[in-house]
Amino acid sequence: MALDPEEFYAHALAAADAEQRLPLARMTGWDISPFPQDGLRVSPLRPPVLPEPPRHGEDPADCASCRARDEGIWFDDHWRLTRIPRAGVPLILMLHPLDHHDMADLPDERAADMGVLTAHLTRHVQAVPHISRAHVYRIGDGGAHLHLWFFARPEGQAQLYGSWLPVWDDLLPEYPDDVAAADAERVADALVASYGGRRTPRAA
Ligand SMILES: [Zn+2]
Repeated sequence: MALDPEEFYAHALAAADAEQRLPLARMTGWDISPFPQDGLRVSPLRPPVLPEPPRHGEDPADCASCRARDEGIWFDDHWRLTRIPRAGVPLILMLHPLDHHDMADLPDERAADMGVLTAHLTRHVQAVPHISRAHVYRIGDGGAHLHLWFFARPEGQAQLYGSWLPVWDDLLPEYPDDVAAADAERVADALVASYGGRRTPRAA
């Protein structure tokens, strides 16, 4: 069984200094870290927050994703795809089930769709010229309605490899929106061709 919240906090504090700051370690030592270690310090550890605050949309009646079923660049009867604007990386796409599910309560049929859609979307994002990799994330701490992130890593930007990419995305200037929109259309069209679905919320 995992450490309980107080045990985990005590375990972390045992490695911290008098100001409850952990030492810099590992990722900040990578040469692709966006932050040089010189002058960098870690925020003081905070005690557990219990019970945890609700995430957005815990109640489906109050869920923005459920209200946005018709918003996106690709749809089928169970899923929709959106583009996240104002990104720093060349393209960020998000895959959402139309119905209110989180990852842990996704019906098996939808989980099977999600696997195939994830593979197809990764293929199509990586087929965009000058995109080398699609990173795929599911975090789930902010919104209760399942949403998968697809982050496009630009070709040749070896500094943007790996798990610092979402931080680099936040640091980089806003990517040209017309270029990202055109590449998103390209991915959506490829998904219609390879998987099915349509570019509009409902069948014509
Ligand atoms: Zn929802």
